Amino acid sequence: MRFVDAHVHLLPGKFMDRMKVWIRKRLGVEIPIKMNAEEVYTALKGKGARFIFNLTHSIEPGHTFELNKWQKTLKEEHADIYTFGAFHPLNEVKDLPGIFEKYRLDGLKLHPGVQRFYPNSNGAIRIYSVLEKINKPLIVHTGHFLDNGYKYTHPKLYKQLIMDFTFPVILAHMCYEYFDYLEKYLDQRSNVYVDCSLVMIKKEIYSEVLRRNVKYYPPTNDFLERYSDKILYGSEIPIVAWDPYSPLKNLSKLEISEKAKNKILFRNAEKFIKHFIKAS
Ligand SMILES: [Zn+2]
Repeated sequence: MRFVDAHVHLLPGKFMDRMKVWIRKRLGVEIPIKMNAEEVYTALKGKGARFIFNLTHSIEPGHTFELNKWQKTLKEEHADIYTFGAFHPLNEVKDLPGIFEKYRLDGLKLHPGVQRFYPNSNGAIRIYSVLEKINKPLIVHTGHFLDNGYKYTHPKLYKQLIMDFTFPVILAHMCYEYFDYLEKYLDQRSNVYVDCSLVMIKKEIYSEVLRRNVKYYPPTNDFLERYSDKILYGSEIPIVAWDPYSPLKNLSKLEISEKAKNKILFRNAEKFIKHFIKAS
């Protein structure tokens, strides 16, 4: 099947190992995939991935350098990988344009839940201001995070990012459970996109923080059809505790038009690459 995976985490071995330990200890979730980054890349290509957006976020400020160095190497080895590099709100924001240049990054990845910052904080706004200036895209985690619920990731906290800036933004995971917010954002802004990673797994996962199940389900078919120009397919591979290709299968089974499916699967991402990555 032809697709672009706009949400992949190819990481250096030791980062992947540490992340798995952290997920097991902190969230009680076991990640069964044992493949290294190169094997994951080969598997995705074998499934039909034309392009991959590779996302790295710094859990600590000290990770930024190493992760971006890794991203640069990946990009040099694989012309079909687009890199969304690491930065931490505690890194020096004045260094950000230089980081983009030095590591040839295509965009940035931030994760408010992991990095424990509010998306509307002054530190975050300073990062957005740099992205605005250099016109580089951002992928940012949205929606519930198992470790801290919606504390850092409630959709209302993204209002400034969405309303006050014009650089391209991809809201990862579609603010799941809050599609009504998302609708408002998408209606008002043409520079805002979403990826459907996690919402296509169709599972309920218990949240210790919220003391209830969180629904990782897609919005209605009507929603998917209506916003089919703004949704990019993403899988979260290899940090998944379910069949890694179940989102692809679930998406292909949806009763929406072929046109909408193709947009979500590859057309939107290919356009995104052309307009916001290659052109900038
Ligand atoms: Zn992710």
